[in-house]
Amino acid sequence: VNKIDKEKPVLPRITKELDGYVGFANFPNQVYRKAIKKGFEFTLMVVGESGLGKSTLINSLFLSEVYSADHMGPSHRIKKTVQVETSKCLLKENGVNLVLTVVDTPGFGDAVDNSNCWQPIIDYIESRYEEYLNAESRVNRKPISDTRVHCCLYFIAPSGHGLKPLDVEFMQRLHDKVNIIPIIAKADTMVPEEIAYFKKQILSEIAQHKIKIYDFPDFINEEDLKVHKSLRDRVPFAVVGSNMVLEIDGKKVRGRKYPWGIAQVDNLEHCDFIALRDMMIKTHLQDLKDVTNNILYENYRCRKLGGVEFTKQQRSLNKNPLAQMEEEKREHAMKMKKMEAEMEQVFESKVKEKKLKLKESEVDLQRRHEQMKKQLDAQIKELEEKRQQLEAEKLQWEQANGVSLDELRRKSLERDSL
Ligand code: GDP
Repeated sequence: VNKIDKEKPVLPRITKELDGYVGFANFPNQVYRKAIKKGFEFTLMVVGESGLGKSTLINSLFLSEVYSADHMGPSHRIKKTVQVETSKCLLKENGVNLVLTVVDTPGFGDAVDNSNCWQPIIDYIESRYEEYLNAESRVNRKPISDTRVHCCLYFIAPSGHGLKPLDVEFMQRLHDKVNIIPIIAKADTMVPEEIAYFKKQILSEIAQHKIKIYDFPDFINEEDLKVHKSLRDRVPFAVVGSNMVLEIDGKKVRGRKYPWGIAQVDNLEHCDFIALRDMMIKTHLQDLKDVTNNILYENYRCRKLGGVEFTKQQRSLNKNPLAQMEEEKREHAMKMKKMEAEMEQVFESKVKEKKLKLKESEVDLQRRHEQMKKQLDAQIKELEEKRQQLEAEKLQWEQANGVSLDELRRKSLERDSL
């Protein structure tokens, strides 16, 4: 997904040395000043069953009451059906303005029958894209306010058993529309080994279902790369949220206090909250916006402008290159699968044929063996009969002549030896 962004511009081969200071080294400062003046807009969506700690986490993330909440206890926004609610606020840090819009989806996954509970969410995301597209297509384009959803934190219940069918269905339907970052909610309910196993399980299911979650690219310098990798390895982030500020050794920390100890939100040994916050806000906020604009919105724009009812051929002509590549890949995989199945069939029939032949020759050998055995038995029998007949004739002759043939043979042998 992020390859496009990583592509470097083609530079001319000739590099010229400057004789003095021209001033374009100041470009970054110009961009910086302009960006500061304009401020930033960021829209964050949170999805997950109620009670998983979404509001608590958002408040913890921005260290501010984005949601009005008590210090402890659940947020007061229980709804029966899935609704999409937005709350907007202006956050300021060291003179930088961030207009943060939090899109909440109360009611998601709370009903007995949750089929289609993702639809209002898809409708919301697409209608923001549509608004943006309409604004872009106007004759007089005013500066467009970007209300597109840049990131979706998907909360997974800490069941320890992997993803639920609803989690898979949601991510499969949304992964080509929004950047999804999976979150394991309430990580303080599991011990580290359980979390490690649960994460592995989730990642393998995500891969198995071909779900594309947001992949944090590494476009940072060599020094930060190690830190970045160690943080990225923590996906899906197992987080703990709390609105309580406690004091430990004179230091104020956010955490959850239990009779047996404190689960600290800001401690990387306790949970991945800091990793999530640093990756999402400090290092990759702009990339989340870029991917939304360059890929996800672009996909939507091509689908929309290309028309909806395509024939297959038209589709391949009009589709955007990414979607087309995806389709070609799928078609190729299907073709390979078909060929594999055919080859397997041929192989199996050949094996069957060979086995049959072997069996036949085995039967033939057995038959021939039996036949020869019978013949030999008959010959033995015949010879035995002949022997008996000879014995009887010999006895008869000895009796008639009063001589023992064996005696005669012995005497003649004695004579010969003399
Ligand atoms: P939401 O409905 O998903 O917005 O959930 P809330 O933020 O209203 O939280 C529901 C309940 O879970 C509240 O009682 C919170 O105090 C509690 N809670 C929030 N985050 C955590 C967490 O990380 N761990 C634990 N154990 N409880 C949490």
